[in-house]
Amino acid sequence: MKEVFEILNIKIDTHVHTIASGHAYSVLSDYIRIAKQKNVEMFALTDHGPEMPGGPHIFHLGNQKEIPSIIENVEILKGAEANIINYKGEIDIPEFILKRLDIVLASLHTPCIESSTIEVNTQTLINTMRSGVVDVIGHSGNTLYPIDIDRFVRAAVENNVLIELNSGSFEGSRSKSWQNCIEIARKAKKYGAFITTGSDSHIHYRLCDFDKIYKIMEIVDFPEELIITTSKDKLKDFLKMRRSK
Ligand SMILES: [Zn+2]
Ligand SMILES: [Zn+2]
Repeated sequence: MKEVFEILNIKIDTHVHTIASGHAYSVLSDYIRIAKQKNVEMFALTDHGPEMPGGPHIFHLGNQKEIPSIIENVEILKGAEANIINYKGEIDIPEFILKRLDIVLASLHTPCIESSTIEVNTQTLINTMRSGVVDVIGHSGNTLYPIDIDRFVRAAVENNVLIELNSGSFEGSRSKSWQNCIEIARKAKKYGAFITTGSDSHIHYRLCDFDKIYKIMEIVDFPEELIITTSKDKLKDFLKMRRSK
């Protein structure tokens, strides 16, 4: 029998940064070019929220209607990666902007919020999910912000929020997150939480580089039906369902 990670070939990436994020190195046309080379079907533009040093003004995030939804057969979701800015779980992008976006990620980042206890970090993410304005929690396996993974995953299911497996998580500042991500995937399987796949590319070459995510899925024997990015319609239907509630 073939291994799961050999069969999986996900062509949707829900986490991508451009130069607008301040510390990334590619523009949209670079991503389109590499998407065509890699047969990527869809990706989400998720530049950082304005509290990230060097991040864009909210007008940049809100003006993405200027970008066609499909360029050269590659579908583009207009989104953002908001910063969670306090323990109430509030984010740095106002609702009138969020309403214009196809997909909203929210993540804990230095220097936008200080890590606290496991209890407080977990409750912060739960508060963000309960706010209803966020579709995805990004890189929750980050060891800089330890959480109660069991509680977090159950809350994601209750609040219809996607959990991201982030293939950019295993280098640099988030390098110790491997074990956490395996645990997150295990709990997602146990509780039936949907996961999404994000490269967190800060340069276009990394678009849809998901080998490490496939490895986690193999280790956990993760059910394919819980991966939201196996088809464009599956992802779009989920986002529509979320917003209708
Ligand atoms: Zn992030
Ligand atoms: Zn990111």
